[in-house]
Amino acid sequence: MRPPDHHDDEHDDRNDGARFSCRDSTWLVSEARDRPLSATERAQLHRHIDSCPHCQVASKQFERLFAQIDDLLGHTRHNGG
Ligand SMILES: [Zn+2]
Repeated sequence: MRPPDHHDDEHDDRNDGARFSCRDSTWLVSEARDRPLSATERAQLHRHIDSCPHCQVASKQFERLFAQIDDLLGHTRHNGG
């Protein structure tokens, strides 16, 4: 049932991850290496990855890539072995 008056509500500028794209996702993943992500950013990231098969693969590749980079740069040291 609609009210007789035609009321258009604009939900164009929602800040609820609606505009969160694969680009934002990869950007946040790389950002997370330099600074701690906010709760909102984490939620958006997880929400997107959860529903995006591309980013599910990408995020795993990122993890491996970063691990290799750390290894090359000597940022992390493995204790014991
Ligand atoms: Zn994605």
